[in-house]
Amino acid sequence: MKKITLLGATGSIGIQTLDVMREYNDKFQLYALAFGSNVQQAIPIIKEFSPKKVVVKDEKVKQELIGHIDHTKVLVGHEGLIEVSKDDETDILVNAVMGSVGLKATLHAIQQGKHIAIANKETLVTAGHLVMDEVKKHQVSFLPVDSEHSAIFQCLNGENKDQVNKIILTASGGSFRDKSRRELEGVTVTDALKHPNWSMGAKITVDSATMMNKGLEVIEAHWLFDVPYSQIDVVLHKESVIHSMVEFSDSCVIAQLGTPDMKVPIQYALTYPDRLDLPQTKKLNLVDIGQLNFNKMDFNRFPCLKMAFDAGREGGTMTTVLNAANEVCVDLFLNGKISFLAIESMIERALNQHKVIKTPDLETILEVDQQTRKLVQSYVD
Ligand code: NDP
Ligand code: MG
Repeated sequence: MKKITLLGATGSIGIQTLDVMREYNDKFQLYALAFGSNVQQAIPIIKEFSPKKVVVKDEKVKQELIGHIDHTKVLVGHEGLIEVSKDDETDILVNAVMGSVGLKATLHAIQQGKHIAIANKETLVTAGHLVMDEVKKHQVSFLPVDSEHSAIFQCLNGENKDQVNKIILTASGGSFRDKSRRELEGVTVTDALKHPNWSMGAKITVDSATMMNKGLEVIEAHWLFDVPYSQIDVVLHKESVIHSMVEFSDSCVIAQLGTPDMKVPIQYALTYPDRLDLPQTKKLNLVDIGQLNFNKMDFNRFPCLKMAFDAGREGGTMTTVLNAANEVCVDLFLNGKISFLAIESMIERALNQHKVIKTPDLETILEVDQQTRKLVQSYVD
Protein backbone atom coordinates (compact mmCIF):
# COMPACT_ATOMS: atom_id res chain seq x y z
CA MET A 1 0.00 0.00 0.00
CA LYS A 2 1.54 3.31 -1.13
CA LYS A 3 0.71 6.44 0.82
CA ILE A 4 0.04 9.40 -1.42
CA THR A 5 0.19 13.11 -0.73
CA LEU A 6 -1.84 14.88 -3.38
CA LEU A 7 -1.29 18.59 -3.95
CA GLY A 8 -4.21 20.06 -5.91
CA ALA A 9 -6.81 17.43 -4.95
CA THR A 10 -9.81 19.54 -6.02
CA GLY A 11 -8.46 20.26 -9.51
CA SER A 12 -8.85 18.45 -12.80
CA ILE A 13 -5.75 16.24 -12.34
CA GLY A 14 -6.41 15.89 -8.61
CA ILE A 15 -9.93 14.54 -9.15
CA GLN A 16 -8.71 12.08 -11.79
CA THR A 17 -5.91 10.95 -9.47
CA LEU A 18 -8.57 10.24 -6.85
CA ASP A 19 -10.52 8.25 -9.46
CA VAL A 20 -7.47 6.04 -10.03
CA MET A 21 -6.98 5.66 -6.28
CA ARG A 22 -10.64 4.80 -5.75
CA GLU A 23 -10.41 2.10 -8.42
CA TYR A 24 -7.25 0.71 -6.79
CA ASN A 25 -7.86 1.25 -3.09
CA ASP A 26 -5.86 -1.89 -2.34
CA LYS A 27 -2.74 -0.20 -3.77
CA PHE A 28 -3.05 3.43 -2.74
CA GLN A 29 -4.04 5.32 0.36
CA LEU A 30 -4.49 9.10 0.50
CA TYR A 31 -2.25 10.25 3.34
CA ALA A 32 -2.58 14.02 2.83
CA LEU A 33 -4.11 16.43 0.37
CA ALA A 34 -3.85 20.12 -0.44
CA PHE A 35 -6.18 22.51 -2.18
CA GLY A 36 -6.54 26.28 -2.44
CA SER A 37 -9.95 27.51 -1.32
CA ASN A 38 -12.61 25.28 -2.84
CA VAL A 39 -13.99 24.05 0.49
CA GLN A 40 -17.27 22.73 -0.93
CA GLN A 41 -15.45 20.46 -3.34
CA ALA A 42 -12.92 19.38 -0.72
CA ILE A 43 -15.36 18.32 2.04
CA PRO A 44 -16.72 15.18 0.31
CA ILE A 45 -13.18 14.19 -0.72
CA ILE A 46 -11.95 14.51 2.86
CA LYS A 47 -14.96 12.55 4.14
CA GLU A 48 -14.45 9.77 1.61
CA PHE A 49 -10.65 9.37 1.80
CA SER A 50 -10.03 10.45 5.45
CA PRO A 51 -6.55 11.89 4.91
CA LYS A 52 -4.49 12.47 8.06
CA LYS A 53 -3.55 16.00 6.98
CA VAL A 54 -5.07 18.69 4.77
CA VAL A 55 -3.36 21.86 3.55
CA VAL A 56 -5.29 24.95 2.46
CA LYS A 57 -4.25 28.28 0.99
CA ASP A 58 -4.69 30.49 4.05
CA GLU A 59 -6.06 30.88 7.57
CA LYS A 60 -9.45 32.07 6.31
CA VAL A 61 -10.02 28.87 4.33
CA LYS A 62 -8.85 26.84 7.33
CA GLN A 63 -11.53 28.45 9.52
CA GLU A 64 -14.15 27.77 6.88
CA LEU A 65 -13.15 24.11 6.63
CA ILE A 66 -12.50 23.23 10.24
CA GLY A 67 -16.15 23.00 11.35
CA HIS A 68 -16.92 20.43 8.66
CA ILE A 69 -14.30 17.78 9.38
CA ASP A 70 -12.99 15.80 12.35
CA HIS A 71 -9.80 13.87 12.90
CA THR A 72 -7.91 15.68 10.16
CA LYS A 73 -5.11 18.10 10.90
CA VAL A 74 -5.46 21.29 8.85
CA LEU A 75 -2.29 23.13 7.81
CA VAL A 76 -1.85 26.36 5.92
CA GLY A 77 0.17 27.84 3.02
CA HIS A 78 3.71 27.05 1.86
CA GLU A 79 4.77 25.72 5.25
CA GLY A 80 1.87 23.28 5.22
CA LEU A 81 2.65 22.15 1.67
CA ILE A 82 6.27 21.50 2.66
CA GLU A 83 5.31 19.63 5.82
CA VAL A 84 3.03 17.14 4.08
CA SER A 85 5.31 16.72 1.08
CA LYS A 86 8.37 15.72 3.08
CA ASP A 87 6.40 13.88 5.77
CA ASP A 88 7.91 10.52 6.78
CA GLU A 89 4.62 8.82 5.98
CA THR A 90 4.42 10.09 2.39
CA ASP A 91 5.63 7.56 -0.20
CA ILE A 92 4.54 9.37 -3.35
CA LEU A 93 4.04 13.08 -3.88
CA VAL A 94 1.61 13.96 -6.67
CA ASN A 95 2.12 17.62 -7.53
CA ALA A 96 -1.05 18.71 -9.34
CA VAL A 97 -1.44 22.27 -8.12
CA MET A 98 -1.89 25.06 -10.61
CA GLY A 99 1.08 27.41 -10.99
CA SER A 100 4.44 27.49 -9.27
CA VAL A 101 3.12 27.35 -5.68
CA GLY A 102 4.30 23.74 -5.32
CA LEU A 103 7.97 24.43 -6.13
CA LYS A 104 9.41 24.54 -2.59
CA ALA A 105 7.33 21.57 -1.44
CA THR A 106 8.52 19.51 -4.41
CA LEU A 107 12.16 20.34 -3.68
CA HIS A 108 11.70 19.28 -0.05
CA ALA A 109 10.03 16.02 -1.08
CA ILE A 110 12.90 15.19 -3.47
CA GLN A 111 15.43 15.89 -0.73
CA GLN A 112 13.58 13.40 1.47
CA GLY A 113 13.78 10.75 -1.27
CA LYS A 114 10.07 10.68 -2.16
CA HIS A 115 8.82 9.28 -5.43
CA ILE A 116 7.38 12.24 -7.39
CA ALA A 117 4.56 12.20 -9.95
CA ILE A 118 4.75 15.63 -11.52
CA ALA A 119 1.74 17.10 -13.33
CA ASN A 120 2.68 20.63 -12.46
CA LYS A 121 4.77 21.89 -15.37
CA GLU A 122 5.22 25.38 -13.89
CA THR A 123 7.60 23.91 -11.29
CA LEU A 124 10.02 22.80 -14.01
CA VAL A 125 9.60 25.93 -16.10
CA THR A 126 10.33 28.26 -13.24
CA ALA A 127 13.24 26.33 -11.70
CA GLY A 128 14.07 23.29 -13.84
CA HIS A 129 17.81 23.26 -13.13
CA LEU A 130 17.30 23.30 -9.34
CA VAL A 131 14.67 20.57 -9.44
CA MET A 132 16.62 18.25 -11.76
CA ASP A 133 19.87 18.76 -9.83
CA GLU A 134 18.08 17.59 -6.69
CA VAL A 135 16.49 14.66 -8.55
CA LYS A 136 19.96 13.51 -9.67
CA LYS A 137 21.52 14.11 -6.29
CA HIS A 138 18.87 12.17 -4.37
CA GLN A 139 18.24 9.54 -7.08
CA VAL A 140 14.46 9.76 -6.78
CA SER A 141 12.05 8.70 -9.49
CA PHE A 142 10.49 11.79 -10.96
CA LEU A 143 7.78 10.69 -13.36
CA PRO A 144 5.78 12.89 -15.71
CA VAL A 145 1.97 13.03 -15.62
CA ASP A 146 1.65 15.46 -18.51
CA SER A 147 0.46 13.25 -21.39
CA GLU A 148 3.15 14.34 -23.87
CA HIS A 149 5.94 13.72 -21.38
CA SER A 150 4.47 10.44 -20.26
CA ALA A 151 4.47 9.49 -23.97
CA ILE A 152 8.11 10.50 -24.44
CA PHE A 153 9.08 8.68 -21.26
CA GLN A 154 7.46 5.53 -22.67
CA CYS A 155 9.10 5.99 -26.11
CA LEU A 156 12.52 6.31 -24.44
CA ASN A 157 12.04 3.28 -22.24
CA GLY A 158 15.00 0.93 -22.73
CA GLU A 159 16.51 3.12 -25.48
CA ASN A 160 20.01 4.55 -25.65
CA LYS A 161 19.52 8.25 -24.92
CA ASP A 162 22.62 9.18 -26.94
CA GLN A 163 20.83 7.96 -30.07
CA VAL A 164 17.89 10.34 -29.76
CA ASN A 165 17.71 12.72 -32.72
CA LYS A 166 14.59 14.56 -31.82
CA ILE A 167 11.73 14.76 -29.41
CA ILE A 168 8.51 15.62 -31.24
CA LEU A 169 5.73 17.06 -29.11
CA THR A 170 2.25 17.03 -30.58
CA ALA A 171 -0.13 19.96 -30.07
CA SER A 172 -3.88 19.88 -30.58
CA GLY A 173 -3.93 23.62 -31.27
CA GLY A 174 -6.36 24.49 -28.46
CA SER A 175 -9.74 26.20 -28.70
CA PHE A 176 -8.73 28.72 -31.36
CA ARG A 177 -6.71 26.52 -33.67
CA ASP A 178 -8.83 27.35 -36.72
CA LYS A 179 -8.91 31.09 -36.11
CA SER A 180 -6.64 33.63 -37.81
CA ARG A 181 -4.85 36.24 -35.70
CA ARG A 182 -7.43 38.84 -36.75
CA GLU A 183 -10.24 36.60 -35.56
CA LEU A 184 -8.58 36.36 -32.14
CA GLU A 185 -9.28 40.04 -31.44
CA GLY A 186 -12.80 39.57 -30.17
CA VAL A 187 -12.61 36.16 -28.45
CA THR A 188 -14.07 35.73 -24.97
CA VAL A 189 -13.17 33.73 -21.87
CA THR A 190 -16.04 31.33 -22.58
CA ASP A 191 -14.69 30.70 -26.10
CA ALA A 192 -11.18 30.10 -24.75
CA LEU A 193 -12.39 27.55 -22.20
CA LYS A 194 -13.84 25.25 -24.88
CA HIS A 195 -10.97 22.86 -25.56
CA PRO A 196 -11.72 20.54 -28.49
CA ASN A 197 -10.12 17.35 -27.05
CA TRP A 198 -9.30 17.59 -23.34
CA SER A 199 -11.26 18.65 -20.28
CA MET A 200 -8.81 20.47 -17.99
CA GLY A 201 -8.48 23.29 -15.46
CA ALA A 202 -9.11 26.87 -16.63
CA LYS A 203 -5.50 28.06 -16.67
CA ILE A 204 -4.12 25.20 -18.77
CA THR A 205 -7.08 25.46 -21.16
CA VAL A 206 -6.23 29.12 -21.81
CA ASP A 207 -2.54 28.14 -22.07
CA SER A 208 -3.55 25.66 -24.77
CA ALA A 209 -5.39 28.37 -26.69
CA THR A 210 -2.37 30.72 -26.61
CA MET A 211 -0.03 27.75 -27.28
CA MET A 212 1.88 28.76 -24.17
CA ASN A 213 1.00 25.32 -22.82
CA LYS A 214 3.13 23.76 -25.57
CA GLY A 215 5.84 26.31 -24.84
CA LEU A 216 5.84 25.32 -21.16
CA GLU A 217 5.92 21.67 -22.26
CA VAL A 218 8.96 22.29 -24.49
CA ILE A 219 10.81 23.63 -21.45
CA GLU A 220 9.45 20.78 -19.32
CA ALA A 221 10.76 18.26 -21.89
CA HIS A 222 14.16 19.96 -21.98
CA TRP A 223 14.56 19.44 -18.23
CA LEU A 224 12.92 16.05 -17.86
CA PHE A 225 14.81 14.37 -20.70
CA ASP A 226 17.95 16.48 -20.73
CA VAL A 227 17.72 17.37 -24.45
CA PRO A 228 18.79 20.68 -26.01
CA TYR A 229 16.11 22.93 -27.49
CA SER A 230 17.52 22.33 -30.99
CA GLN A 231 16.35 18.71 -30.63
CA ILE A 232 12.77 19.52 -29.63
CA ASP A 233 10.10 19.98 -32.32
CA VAL A 234 6.40 20.71 -32.10
CA VAL A 235 3.88 19.50 -34.66
CA LEU A 236 0.17 20.30 -34.86
CA HIS A 237 -1.93 17.15 -34.57
CA LYS A 238 -5.56 18.00 -34.05
CA GLU A 239 -6.80 14.55 -33.05
CA SER A 240 -4.53 14.26 -29.95
CA VAL A 241 -4.18 10.53 -30.63
CA ILE A 242 -0.39 10.50 -30.84
CA HIS A 243 0.63 11.98 -27.52
CA SER A 244 4.23 12.56 -28.65
CA MET A 245 7.11 10.85 -30.46
CA VAL A 246 10.84 10.30 -30.41
CA GLU A 247 13.01 10.11 -33.52
CA PHE A 248 16.23 8.07 -33.23
CA SER A 249 19.50 8.25 -35.15
CA ASP A 250 18.56 5.39 -37.49
CA SER A 251 15.48 7.46 -38.56
CA CYS A 252 13.04 5.23 -36.62
CA VAL A 253 10.27 7.10 -34.85
CA ILE A 254 8.54 5.66 -31.80
CA ALA A 255 5.18 7.19 -30.91
CA GLN A 256 2.78 6.60 -28.03
CA LEU A 257 -0.93 6.59 -28.87
CA GLY A 258 -4.09 6.58 -26.81
CA THR A 259 -7.44 8.19 -26.14
CA PRO A 260 -7.27 11.59 -24.46
CA ASP A 261 -7.73 10.50 -20.83
CA MET A 262 -5.38 11.81 -18.15
CA LYS A 263 -6.06 8.81 -15.92
CA VAL A 264 -3.71 6.80 -18.14
CA PRO A 265 -0.56 8.91 -17.59
CA ILE A 266 -1.58 9.45 -13.94
CA GLN A 267 -1.68 5.71 -13.22
CA TYR A 268 1.56 5.15 -15.11
CA ALA A 269 3.38 7.76 -13.02
CA LEU A 270 2.06 6.06 -9.87
CA THR A 271 2.77 2.45 -10.79
CA TYR A 272 5.64 2.45 -13.33
CA PRO A 273 6.87 -0.01 -14.54
CA ASP A 274 3.52 -1.73 -13.98
CA ARG A 275 0.40 -0.79 -15.90
CA LEU A 276 -3.04 -0.92 -14.33
CA ASP A 277 -6.17 -2.03 -16.05
CA LEU A 278 -8.37 1.09 -16.36
CA PRO A 279 -11.83 -0.28 -17.21
CA GLN A 280 -13.45 3.16 -17.47
CA THR A 281 -10.96 4.36 -20.07
CA LYS A 282 -12.09 4.08 -23.68
CA LYS A 283 -9.81 1.93 -25.81
CA LEU A 284 -8.31 3.50 -28.90
CA ASN A 285 -10.02 2.45 -32.12
CA LEU A 286 -7.92 3.62 -35.06
CA VAL A 287 -10.36 2.26 -37.62
CA ASP A 288 -13.11 4.48 -36.16
CA ILE A 289 -10.76 7.46 -36.20
CA GLY A 290 -9.80 6.68 -39.80
CA GLN A 291 -7.19 9.34 -40.32
CA LEU A 292 -4.65 11.35 -38.40
CA ASN A 293 -3.57 14.85 -39.45
CA PHE A 294 -0.31 16.71 -38.96
CA ASN A 295 0.54 20.33 -39.73
CA LYS A 296 3.59 22.49 -39.43
CA MET A 297 3.65 24.75 -36.39
CA ASP A 298 3.46 28.43 -37.31
CA PHE A 299 5.42 30.63 -34.88
CA ASN A 300 3.81 33.81 -36.28
CA ARG A 301 0.36 32.47 -35.53
CA PHE A 302 1.44 31.26 -32.06
CA PRO A 303 4.05 33.75 -30.77
CA CYS A 304 3.85 32.35 -27.20
CA LEU A 305 5.50 29.16 -28.42
CA LYS A 306 8.34 31.16 -29.96
CA MET A 307 8.73 33.17 -26.73
CA ALA A 308 8.99 29.93 -24.76
CA PHE A 309 11.68 28.49 -27.06
CA ASP A 310 13.60 31.78 -26.88
CA ALA A 311 13.28 32.01 -23.09
CA GLY A 312 14.34 28.38 -22.76
CA ARG A 313 17.43 28.93 -24.92
CA GLU A 314 18.32 32.05 -22.94
CA GLY A 315 17.89 29.98 -19.77
CA GLY A 316 18.41 31.16 -16.19
CA THR A 317 15.68 33.44 -14.86
CA MET A 318 14.18 34.01 -18.33
CA THR A 319 11.84 31.04 -17.96
CA THR A 320 10.92 32.16 -14.44
CA VAL A 321 9.77 35.46 -15.95
CA LEU A 322 7.95 33.68 -18.78
CA ASN A 323 6.05 31.54 -16.30
CA ALA A 324 5.22 34.26 -13.75
CA ALA A 325 4.13 36.73 -16.45
CA ASN A 326 1.96 34.06 -18.05
CA GLU A 327 0.32 33.09 -14.74
CA VAL A 328 -0.62 36.73 -14.03
CA CYS A 329 -1.81 37.40 -17.59
CA VAL A 330 -4.00 34.31 -17.75
CA ASP A 331 -5.51 35.22 -14.39
CA LEU A 332 -6.21 38.77 -15.63
CA PHE A 333 -7.78 37.38 -18.80
CA LEU A 334 -9.95 34.90 -16.87
CA ASN A 335 -11.13 37.77 -14.67
CA GLY A 336 -12.09 39.90 -17.66
CA LYS A 337 -9.34 42.49 -17.06
CA ILE A 338 -7.42 42.07 -20.32
CA SER A 339 -8.11 40.77 -23.83
CA PHE A 340 -6.91 37.43 -25.13
CA LEU A 341 -4.23 39.01 -27.33
CA ALA A 342 -2.97 41.16 -24.44
CA ILE A 343 -1.75 37.95 -22.78
CA GLU A 344 1.04 37.49 -25.30
CA SER A 345 1.91 41.19 -25.65
CA MET A 346 2.24 41.63 -21.88
CA ILE A 347 4.40 38.53 -21.51
CA GLU A 348 6.62 39.78 -24.32
CA ARG A 349 6.95 43.16 -22.59
CA ALA A 350 7.96 41.51 -19.29
CA LEU A 351 10.54 39.31 -21.06
CA ASN A 352 12.01 42.33 -22.89
CA GLN A 353 12.35 44.23 -19.63
CA HIS A 354 14.18 41.43 -17.84
CA LYS A 355 17.94 41.20 -17.51
CA VAL A 356 18.64 37.49 -17.27
CA ILE A 357 20.49 35.93 -14.31
CA LYS A 358 22.13 32.80 -15.69
CA THR A 359 22.35 30.36 -12.77
CA PRO A 360 19.91 31.61 -10.15
CA ASP A 361 19.54 29.99 -6.73
CA LEU A 362 16.12 29.35 -5.21
CA GLU A 363 15.98 32.69 -3.43
CA THR A 364 16.73 34.56 -6.67
CA ILE A 365 14.06 32.59 -8.51
CA LEU A 366 11.43 33.34 -5.89
CA GLU A 367 12.41 37.01 -5.94
CA VAL A 368 12.30 37.28 -9.76
CA ASP A 369 8.95 35.47 -9.70
CA GLN A 370 7.48 38.01 -7.26
CA GLN A 371 8.98 41.03 -9.06
CA THR A 372 7.60 39.82 -12.39
CA ARG A 373 4.12 39.34 -10.94
CA LYS A 374 4.17 42.91 -9.60
CA LEU A 375 5.55 44.31 -12.86
CA VAL A 376 2.93 42.63 -15.03
CA GLN A 377 0.15 43.66 -12.66
CA SER A 378 1.43 47.26 -12.92
CA TYR A 379 0.79 47.21 -16.69
CA VAL A 380 -2.94 47.17 -15.97
CA ASP A 381 -3.15 49.13 -12.70
P1 NDP B 1 -6.95 23.05 -11.77
O1 NDP B 1 -7.05 24.52 -11.86
O2 NDP B 1 -8.10 22.23 -12.20
O3 NDP B 1 -6.59 22.63 -10.28
C1 NDP B 1 -5.59 23.28 -9.57
C2 NDP B 1 -5.51 22.71 -8.16
O4 NDP B 1 -4.52 23.45 -7.43
C3 NDP B 1 -6.81 22.86 -7.37
O5 NDP B 1 -6.94 21.77 -6.50
C4 NDP B 1 -6.56 24.13 -6.57
O6 NDP B 1 -7.36 24.27 -5.42
C5 NDP B 1 -5.09 23.91 -6.21
N1 NDP B 1 -4.44 25.12 -5.76
C6 NDP B 1 -4.42 26.34 -6.35
N2 NDP B 1 -3.74 27.22 -5.60
C7 NDP B 1 -3.31 26.54 -4.49
C8 NDP B 1 -2.58 26.89 -3.33
N3 NDP B 1 -2.13 28.13 -3.14
N4 NDP B 1 -2.33 25.93 -2.42
C9 NDP B 1 -2.78 24.67 -2.58
N5 NDP B 1 -3.49 24.28 -3.67
C10 NDP B 1 -3.74 25.20 -4.61
O7 NDP B 1 -5.64 22.65 -12.58
P2 NDP B 1 -5.34 21.32 -13.41
O8 NDP B 1 -5.66 20.13 -12.59
O9 NDP B 1 -5.90 21.45 -14.76
O10 NDP B 1 -3.76 21.43 -13.58
C11 NDP B 1 -2.86 21.22 -12.50
C12 NDP B 1 -1.44 21.16 -13.04
O11 NDP B 1 -1.34 20.04 -13.92
C13 NDP B 1 -1.06 22.37 -13.88
O12 NDP B 1 0.30 22.62 -13.69
C14 NDP B 1 -1.30 21.92 -15.31
O13 NDP B 1 -0.49 22.58 -16.24
C15 NDP B 1 -0.92 20.45 -15.21
N6 NDP B 1 -1.56 19.59 -16.20
C16 NDP B 1 -2.93 19.48 -16.25
C17 NDP B 1 -3.55 18.68 -17.18
C18 NDP B 1 -5.03 18.50 -17.19
O14 NDP B 1 -5.53 17.67 -17.94
N7 NDP B 1 -5.79 19.21 -16.39
C19 NDP B 1 -2.76 17.96 -18.19
C20 NDP B 1 -1.35 18.10 -18.03
C21 NDP B 1 -0.77 18.90 -17.07
P3 NDP B 1 -8.80 25.06 -5.51
O15 NDP B 1 -9.73 24.13 -6.25
O16 NDP B 1 -9.20 25.21 -4.12
O17 NDP B 1 -8.53 26.34 -6.22
MG1 MG C 1 0.15 18.20 -21.98
